[in-house]
Parts: sequence; C-alpha cells; structure tokens
Amino acid sequence: MTGKKYIIQTWTNNPILRTISDKIEKIDEELMHFAGDLVRLMYKNKGVWLAAPQVGKNIRIIATTQRGEKKGKDVIIDETIMINPNITAISADCILSEEACISLPDEKGKVRRHKSLIVEYTDIKGHRQKKKFKDFNATVIQHEIDHLDGILFTDKLVKKRK
Ligand SMILES: [Zn+2]
Repeated sequence: MTGKKYIIQTWTNNPILRTISDKIEKIDEELMHFAGDLVRLMYKNKGVWLAAPQVGKNIRIIATTQRGEKKGKDVIIDETIMINPNITAISADCILSEEACISLPDEKGKVRRHKSLIVEYTDIKGHRQKKKFKDFNATVIQHEIDHLDGILFTDKLVKKRK
C-alpha cells in the first residue's frame, strides 16, 4: 500500500457509488500506485472484483479477476486492471447468476448478464486492449463497469433470495 487510507464505500444511497466516474486522461505514477492498491484491496476484502468508486475515487478503473480451470478445479487464474473499459459487443444470450458486492455487505441476489462480451480497455502500461470474456468472467466485467456508471447490482435483481 502507498500509505493512503481508503474507505470502502457502502450502501445504495452513497453518492460516490451513484456518480458517473470520470474518464482517465493519463496514466501517471499516482494512477499506477492506485491500481496496485485497488488490486490489494480487492483481495484483502475477499473480493473478486473492485472498482475505483468503491474505495472512494470516481475514476474509470477496475480490478478484475478471471476464473478458469486448473487441474480440474475452478479457480482464479488471472487478474486484470482495466482503465476506461468499454463493452463493445455483447451476446444475445444471457446467464443468471448470484452476485454479491463488497459495497453491499448484506445483499445477495440473482442478476441477468450477457453470457459473453468484448471489452476494450487501456492496460496499466497504456496499451489499448481488446478481449473477449464469457460466463463468470463476463459477469465480473459487467458488474464492475456498472459501478463506473453509478449502477449497483441491486438495481438489477431478478429475484431476491429468501
Ligand atoms: Zn460491486
């Protein structure tokens, strides 16, 4: 950590979580440090995803993890920091899965998401990337980009868990 203190932003009426975050114009040292902090905070809070507004910064950067199979087990195989991510293609097919969020500690519920998508983003080295994700990994991206637009998964619940 860079010695900065971050506060995990919580609750659906939190103005930081409800703001449309600003596009990042340049990747400087401060942003690189912040990106590292974001990844560490994600794991520290036992998260599989974390967006900048969730730690109090309204800028368009997300930390994500990707799952895959390793020795027959479904595990986290990768992590990706995305700056100014944009979904540029989506599948018509949707999947329904249970989501949770560090910012909404008491909430859980099913959300319908596109099964696969293409996302374009700038990586931490400043290179524009274009990648395809599906299933859980696509859900992560959609949940996180929603955070950058002030949207929470509870806005999209299909059915509340009893
Ligand atoms: Zn979330």
